[in-house]
Amino acid sequence: MSECLFCGIVGGEIDARIVAEGDDWIAFRDVDPRAPTHVLLVPREHVATTNELTAEHDALMGSLVRAAAEIATSEGIADDGYRLVVNCGRGAGQSVWHVHMHLLGGRAMGWPPG
Ligand code: AMP
Repeated sequence: MSECLFCGIVGGEIDARIVAEGDDWIAFRDVDPRAPTHVLLVPREHVATTNELTAEHDALMGSLVRAAAEIATSEGIADDGYRLVVNCGRGAGQSVWHVHMHLLGGRAMGWPPG
């Protein structure tokens, strides 16, 4: 089994509540939701943090944002608004070392984020 949790989910070795899938990404519900809708969008390719992204990932990251907007629509939160978050590094609270985007919505969001 992969040492990376999200590679394990991508590979089907670890169960997750999958919401949607694309050729190069997968979206599933966060196991510890911080909002009524809390979905993680994860590239199938293992990239530890956004610091390791290259120009070759530009299309992938673009498709991730667009997929998040489509999921927000299907979850019924697109009109009220939602937040997309990508934590990079310990200081930002990253805890899984495989790039992922949080889609959070269904409640009011404070600003600035904590
Ligand atoms: P981050 O802190 O930005 O690295 O986000 C990692 C997220 O992964 C957290 O919100 C966790 O709740 C979530 N998480 C951890 N393990 C799982 C899992 N097995 N399935 C779904 N989400 C998970």
